Amino acid sequence: MTWSQPDIPELPEVETIVRELRKKIIGLKIIDFWSDKEKPVHQAGGVTKFKKEIQGKKVLSVVRRAKFIVIDIDGDKTMFIHQKISGHLMYGKWEQKNGQWVSKFSGPLKEDRQNQYIRYIWIFNNSYQLAMSDVRRFSRIILVRDKDVSGLKEIRDLGPEPLELNAESFGRLFRAKKGKIKPVLMDPTFIVGIGNIYADEILWDAGVHPLSQIDKLSKDDINRIFKSTRKILRLAIRYKGDSMDDYRLPSGEKGGYQNIQKAYQQTGKKCARKDGGVITRIKIGQRSAHFCPKHQRIA
Ligand SMILES: [Zn+2]
Repeated sequence: MTWSQPDIPELPEVETIVRELRKKIIGLKIIDFWSDKEKPVHQAGGVTKFKKEIQGKKVLSVVRRAKFIVIDIDGDKTMFIHQKISGHLMYGKWEQKNGQWVSKFSGPLKEDRQNQYIRYIWIFNNSYQLAMSDVRRFSRIILVRDKDVSGLKEIRDLGPEPLELNAESFGRLFRAKKGKIKPVLMDPTFIVGIGNIYADEILWDAGVHPLSQIDKLSKDDINRIFKSTRKILRLAIRYKGDSMDDYRLPSGEKGGYQNIQKAYQQTGKKCARKDGGVITRIKIGQRSAHFCPKHQRIA
C-alpha cells in the first residue's frame, strides 16, 4: 500500500523548498549539469542527453504538485524532480576538492552533515548552483514535455491538494470511504502531501483518534479534521518544514516545525492541552501513530 512507504518530506517541506527556490533561480540560465551517476536521470540517453537538452535554457517557473518539484525551462521541456525520502535541493556555490563537492560558503551548507551528500548539480550563468544532497540516493529527475507533465504516472492518479479544498469538497472525499482515518489521510490517491508527521499533528489538533473508522466519524469530526489540516499545514509552511530528520532548506538551514510538534514522536510527554493525557505510540500496519488517549476520541 502506498501509505506504508516513508513519507518525508511532506507537503510543507516541499512547498518551502519551492518557495525559496522561486526567489533564487527563476530567470537564471542553466549552463551545465553534473551527476555522480547515471541513475538519477530517468530518460533514454541518460545524463549526456539530459545535459544537452537543458543547457542554455532559462528557468521559467518552479511549482509543487503533491511532493514533486516541477521546474519549467525554456522550450517545450520541464524538469520533474522527486526528492523521495532523503533528498533536498540546495542553492549555493560548491567546488570539487579531492573528488568531493565542498560549499564555498561557511555555515550549514558546509557544516551540516545532511548537506554533504551531493549527487548532482545544475550550474547557472550567475555562477551559483542548485545541488541535490541525498544520503539514500533515491531522488530522481525526469525531463518531460510540458504537455505530458500531468499524465506522468507519478501524478496522474493523485488525489487533490489539501490546501485547495473547501470544507464541502473536503467532506465529499470522505463519503463512501472506508478504513481507519490515519492511513487514509496518508494515502496520496485520497489526498496528497500528508505523511506520518502531519497526519499525527492534524489528528491531535482535531481531537480524533488515528484508529477511528471513517464511516463512524460525524460531520463535525470531519469538519474539525478539515480545519486542522489547513491550520497545521499552513503553520508548518510558516515554520519552513520539519527538520527532525534529513530535510533542510535550500540555504542548508533547518526548518522549525520539529520544535512545536504536539504528537509526532512525542511519546511519553504530557499532552500540550494539559488534559492529563500522555502521548502514546501505537502501530498501524507498518507505521506508528502518536496520539493523546485523553482528548483524541475513537469513532
Ligand atoms: Zn490531550
